[in-house]
Amino acid sequence: MMGAPVGRQDRLFYEFDLEDMVAGDHLLRRIDTALNLSWLRGEMKPHYSHLGCPSVCPDLMIRMLLIGYCYSIRSERRLCQEVKMNLAYRWFCGLGLEDKVPHHSTFSVNRHGRFRESDILRKVFEEVVCGCMTAGLVGGEGFAVDASVIEADASRFQRIEGPEVDWTDEQRSSRPVREYLVALDNENPPINPTQKPKAISPTDPAAAWTTRGRHKVMFGYSLNYLIDMENAVILDVEATPTRISKEVDATETMIERTEERFALKPDRLAGDVAYGTGEMLGWLVDHDIDPHIPVWDKAKRGDGTFSRTDFIYDKARDLYICPGAKLLKTTGRLHSDNIYRYIASKHDCDACPLKPKCCPNTPARRIPRSPNEAARDMTRALMETEAYALSSGERKKIEALFGEAKHILSMARLRLRGLTGAHDEFLLTATVQNLKRLANHTTRPPPQPMMT
Ligand code: SF4
Repeated sequence: MMGAPVGRQDRLFYEFDLEDMVAGDHLLRRIDTALNLSWLRGEMKPHYSHLGCPSVCPDLMIRMLLIGYCYSIRSERRLCQEVKMNLAYRWFCGLGLEDKVPHHSTFSVNRHGRFRESDILRKVFEEVVCGCMTAGLVGGEGFAVDASVIEADASRFQRIEGPEVDWTDEQRSSRPVREYLVALDNENPPINPTQKPKAISPTDPAAAWTTRGRHKVMFGYSLNYLIDMENAVILDVEATPTRISKEVDATETMIERTEERFALKPDRLAGDVAYGTGEMLGWLVDHDIDPHIPVWDKAKRGDGTFSRTDFIYDKARDLYICPGAKLLKTTGRLHSDNIYRYIASKHDCDACPLKPKCCPNTPARRIPRSPNEAARDMTRALMETEAYALSSGERKKIEALFGEAKHILSMARLRLRGLTGAHDEFLLTATVQNLKRLANHTTRPPPQPMMT
């Protein structure tokens, strides 16, 4: 039988409770159970004037931003519209049916003004990490690090070739350019002073011109994650221009900050070969962290001549012994490329029958040695262990987090420009990812007793 038409929308009064409209297992309800923002108003108080019109409540702003990054609504205008219309969003934000949603321009001014000054997004992220620790989701022993390229909001067709740009007044007036020019004088500038960029974006100059990522040339930032491998909780996040040296620097920053903020220091760190440089391995060993990272090794030669591994290092005498049983010695001088050089005697090499297989084009064989070679040797030994094999498998959890960020949370391309824009977007993405894990854990029903 055909049902009667529905849609009586002319009633003046409704028996209505917003609480009843949100299902018990709705994601936002579960996130709300896991989220504690009771500290937020106190933290933000110094950043508001006690005069003038009341501004938007910071709790409401954070809740709206979390909805935006949870449901891939990154346009502020659209986010304000969606919160206005969606009952679950209203409930999560603590808004009644008749409460006004902030105008998108007010929302934007607050977000890019006092929210950035106060670094409140990092504080929210850290509170969520603390929640994960309290819930027992953080093991604290094995960490993993990795970076993924996210396309900047900058056209690859509008670029200035070469490292030098003659900025116009109009370009200088934009926030990303102003921030970039200030950052150039910082201790850690966004570009590598010894390796200047091939191209610069006039709209987002801090973004790196890169071929990594989606296999096309583009401007990009790296999303750097440091995770605890037990439950893939993100412990720290950092935005850098897409350059390997910057990603390695970010690793040190994230490990130090995690120790400072959460008193967590890993026994082992897993990563891919990009982190296997002598400097990085040396830094980890100096900090009593086992590097479960493949060594970045260029010692092997492909032309059939002896590789460095064919020479034996004698630690007691600080020299190498060559396949012809002769000695290669060093003056002890550290060269400008941060390498010691061990050199054979020309007299020995001239008389050696192995010379065509050793140094056919040079008078005597030279062996370079990094000051961090001991750390590299230790890492090579670790690479043979079962624990290393286990870490290699577990570190793939970080790839799943990048996949979730890009494909489920739509973080394949940034909306905000500049390093601070990338920083804000990455922090919110990581916060949402942790919140989802914490919410699933907190609201999971207790295990049923086994029936006998
Ligand atoms: S060429 Fe020189 S370094 Fe090479 S094996 Fe002979 S003596 Fe040793």
